[in-house]
Amino acid sequence: MENVEQILLPRWIIPVDDENSIHEDFGIAINAGRIVAVASKSELKARYCSDSVVELAEHAIIPGLVNAHTHASMTLFRGLADDLPMPVWLNEHIWPAEAKWVSREFVQAGTSLACAEMLRGGTTCFNDMYFFPDTVAEQSEACGIRACVGMIVIEFPTIWAKDPNEYIQKGLDLRSSLEKSTLVTTCFAPHAPYTVSDPTLTQIAELSSELNCQVHIHLHETAEEVERAVCESGIRPFERLNHLGLVNQRLMAVHMTQLKTHEIQNLAEHASHVIHCPESNLKLSSGSCPAGELVSHGVNIALGTDGASSNNDLDMLGEMRTASLFAKIVSESAESLDAYTALRMATLNGAKALNLDHEIGSIETGKSADVVALDLSHPATQPCYSPVSQIVYSMSRDQVSDVWVAGKRLVNEGALTTIDEQQSITVAQNWCNRISQS
Ligand SMILES: [Zn+2]
Repeated sequence: MENVEQILLPRWIIPVDDENSIHEDFGIAINAGRIVAVASKSELKARYCSDSVVELAEHAIIPGLVNAHTHASMTLFRGLADDLPMPVWLNEHIWPAEAKWVSREFVQAGTSLACAEMLRGGTTCFNDMYFFPDTVAEQSEACGIRACVGMIVIEFPTIWAKDPNEYIQKGLDLRSSLEKSTLVTTCFAPHAPYTVSDPTLTQIAELSSELNCQVHIHLHETAEEVERAVCESGIRPFERLNHLGLVNQRLMAVHMTQLKTHEIQNLAEHASHVIHCPESNLKLSSGSCPAGELVSHGVNIALGTDGASSNNDLDMLGEMRTASLFAKIVSESAESLDAYTALRMATLNGAKALNLDHEIGSIETGKSADVVALDLSHPATQPCYSPVSQIVYSMSRDQVSDVWVAGKRLVNEGALTTIDEQQSITVAQNWCNRISQS
């Protein structure tokens, strides 16, 4: 008998593999933060013993959810400006609020609240784009969540940096400081084609290639963005990025609501990744990403919530459901984007986009033990013909019972173990008071 740190014994394991498997009466053995075995309960009990055996009789275990696009600290702007067209929302509300309020303390408070919300909702990894990414990294390490922090670049000065060179240098310094981190990685995060110039994007393309580092950018979010670019430069932003050497396997293109068939083919040929944020697109009426079509062309498509100021939550279970339902209406086919595909988008595809699929995204021997237990005994998910159907179409976040990242139990029977939730909420309420009284 081999002694391991933990053994999890759920009713189902949904590993997220090519066969769309659902294992019943299987268990997971975890040691040193890694999955050492996924096998039937009888086999597992014959081979392993542990002081920590977690019985999860009515639960399904899935890989940790990967929120592939967010601005975590914007939780502090949740509900600040709703029901507005995207340009009005951004130019007249969000950017002025950011100019006035964003500071290191703001990012600390907002990220802490976001991590509490994400962990309790089964998200174990998030891909962030915001100012003070060093603080986002610190907060993530402190609570044990996995993160990819964006080395943000914008052409104009902000509180974080004065010009593109400073943005890039601060990003690279952060990247070096995180070299030994097992939880936090970095990627380049030029905000969007309309806020970053050609020379800066070219420099990012070169550095991305040299360092084998992903590039996370908002792209083709609205028809207006594309039309304005065509008016000003004669070419669509995607084409511009292609000319600048950014369309490759390191590109994470967020939104992509405006896509022509040849652009979809181009994304597939270059193995670029699309990050679909259906709820943000719906709420801002930005447009619709052709998710079903991207899947059928073999493009890797992951899911993100976007910031809490345009969603207004960081709920990846909700995002999966919306993605699936939205794809059905957009493609006029109820067969589009089935439940298992939606779950794959929220897990393994996110890991692939972040170039972390060797480590996370599925339940496989050797990968990091980033897993989530979901309680299906709730009336809302009974009776149960298929746990994947229940998870994608019926479940809510209060059914997330336990969350492990690298084998560490960060949510234990619904309670956070590394974040003082009440403290996070109190600090966020204080920010809300300051912001609303100004
Ligand atoms: Zn965004």
